[in-house]
Amino acid sequence: MSSSHFEIAIDGPVAAGKGTISRLVADQLGFLYVDTGAMYRVATLMAIEAGTDLANEDAIVRLIRSGFIEMRNPTEYEKDGRLTTVLVDKKDVSWAIRTEKISSKVSLVARLPRVRQVLVEKQQIIARAQDVVMEGRDITYRVLPDANLKIYLTGSDVVRAKRRHLQSLQHGEYVTYEEVFKELKIRDHNDMERVNDPLRIVDDAWVIDTSDLKIGQVVELIVNKVRVMQSVQGSQATVNH
Ligand code: C5P
Repeated sequence: MSSSHFEIAIDGPVAAGKGTISRLVADQLGFLYVDTGAMYRVATLMAIEAGTDLANEDAIVRLIRSGFIEMRNPTEYEKDGRLTTVLVDKKDVSWAIRTEKISSKVSLVARLPRVRQVLVEKQQIIARAQDVVMEGRDITYRVLPDANLKIYLTGSDVVRAKRRHLQSLQHGEYVTYEEVFKELKIRDHNDMERVNDPLRIVDDAWVIDTSDLKIGQVVELIVNKVRVMQSVQGSQATVNH
């Protein structure tokens, strides 16, 4: 368990609420929020824009290494509903990486072992020095296996697809609910069945089903738990002193 800082690792399927919940938890606790899915999305966007075959692992790794990728909190001027601002070579791709086109291709890139290795290293470097809420698919067992708190966020297929459909419409992407539902099922399947680091529930994860809960309720549950854990850690540090 990390003692110098506090790590919250969150995994879960598509549209379980990981992004929104992680962002709010991070803001309330003063932690850094890291969306690792955005990194796989950036790799996919870079490959598509470069006309690279999505099975060409070497070329995609080169693209990731050559591009200057930045992820940061949105500034006042960027508050348009995004949770994170993502720049590639200074170009804002925060929304370009969220389209259905990228969503439908990202699993192809995320299954490549060397792409995962490069991105996991970047994620571990980011998490090393600060209190973080990091969310993705392999955070609880690959990226941050010693996290102080491990959470698996989930929800029913229908609730998750409805959420994702609404988000797409709000951003002017006119896809049908049926298309979103189908894409969600395919992506869940690809993420859970892949050979390299599939999405799974670890034994020590706290499983939260968000289907019937409001976002604020989930955030409160997590923040309260972390505060209790921090006060126990603090008093143990005093006793051991
Ligand atoms: O979280 P989000 O849906 O944006 O992630 C996009 C995709 O990136 C996932 O469907 C998954 O294939 C991949 N991913 C991953 N490991 C992570 C985060 C995301 O394989 N830690």
